Amino acid sequence: MQEVRQGYTLDQARARLLAVLNPLPGRNVCPLRQARGRVLAAPLVAPRAVPGFRASSMDGYALRAVDGRPGQSLPVVGCSAAGAPYGRPLQPGRAVRIFTGAVVPDGADAVAPQEDVQLAQGEPSNSMITLETSIHPGQWVRSPQEEAAPGEQLASAGQRLGSVDVVRAMGCGLCTAQVYSRPRVTLLITGSELRPAGDPLPPGTICDSNGPLLLSLLEQLGLTVVDHQWVDDDPQRLETALLRLAGRSDVLISTGGVSVGDGDHVRPLLERLGTLQFWRLFLKPGRPFATGTMAGTRFFGLPGNPVSAAVTFLQLVWPALQALEGAAPEPWPRLRVRLADPLRRRPGRPELVRAHLTTDYRGNPLATPCGDQSSARLASLQGADLLLEIDASTTELPAGTAVTAQLLRLPVL
Ligand code: AMP
Ligand code: MG
Repeated sequence: MQEVRQGYTLDQARARLLAVLNPLPGRNVCPLRQARGRVLAAPLVAPRAVPGFRASSMDGYALRAVDGRPGQSLPVVGCSAAGAPYGRPLQPGRAVRIFTGAVVPDGADAVAPQEDVQLAQGEPSNSMITLETSIHPGQWVRSPQEEAAPGEQLASAGQRLGSVDVVRAMGCGLCTAQVYSRPRVTLLITGSELRPAGDPLPPGTICDSNGPLLLSLLEQLGLTVVDHQWVDDDPQRLETALLRLAGRSDVLISTGGVSVGDGDHVRPLLERLGTLQFWRLFLKPGRPFATGTMAGTRFFGLPGNPVSAAVTFLQLVWPALQALEGAAPEPWPRLRVRLADPLRRRPGRPELVRAHLTTDYRGNPLATPCGDQSSARLASLQGADLLLEIDASTTELPAGTAVTAQLLRLPVL
């Protein structure tokens, strides 16, 4: 009965959410140059072998390994440069001047780096060389399929493309990718006390943090907010705003007004205008959280406190957005870290404690919690690298205790 009384744990909530979400139907053909961050709807497949020829990986001399004994002299009969092959088979007992990336001529099976060769006389492309080391078959020769074999899968459907995925596919000659469409997102920031930064602040008002927070997180994750709006805690204006924004997007995210206060109208409105899938989390920060559907749009009602809004976004909304975009939602990577300082807390709910990642003198990871963990205090999230997963019953952990932490870093490549 914990679910009903206390709310869902994060794992329960995530499982329920992902069980009902499917990729949006749209597909686009996207130029690969613009495809970083997009999710593939069809695999990327190498159209041919890459590089497609045996290429030298050194500047030096192409030759036959059997001719390559230390002290052996060979005449240099020509040159193979990148983009300008020698173009004829290499005769036994001869060498060809060669550069990195150039075709290794037929007949040659090795490259002697120029550092290992004495040049007897004249120009490097038309002279004699004397080898200083023995030569092994295949040395400094790249296979024609080193990067990719014909038909090799370079990236799979459902994969979110990183920079290197894109670059490797383009290096194999591809220029477009079939990708899923991205969810269109709208934002509704609720709260009569909120003003945009820069506006006058009458007594009791505060600056809106959640609007800028979600706009920036969504932008960082490659998603566009097609419309956003602020509304006060008036049920009628809230209803109008919810319906308007739901009609314009695949996902509507609101913040604030989802708890049990007199001014909290979001959950009852969701129940009346659409369907509430579930409400409330057994989590700190982020207890008030509601999700469901409204006018065919997936709805997320996030808490008003900015840290709770950020944490529930990262834990639940981001996986849901990935599922809608056709990607398998991946949990944040986890690692075991030791506490640099003791941790004291009030027991009751599982907690995600914001912490900085450092290392001890041996290079082992250490976590330093970011001070007061109030869910209203954005400073507890500023520069945080980790969310420490702390059990509901924990009250105190001494310095040095090993805990599991989620690593809040997006991949660069
Ligand atoms: P609520 O969930 O609406 O009860 O809000 C909880 C707390 O978060 C209150 O102290 C609100 O003033 C604050 N809050 C709500 N929305 C925002 C926002 N957009 N930016 C900053 N603080 C907010
Ligand atoms: Mg409020």
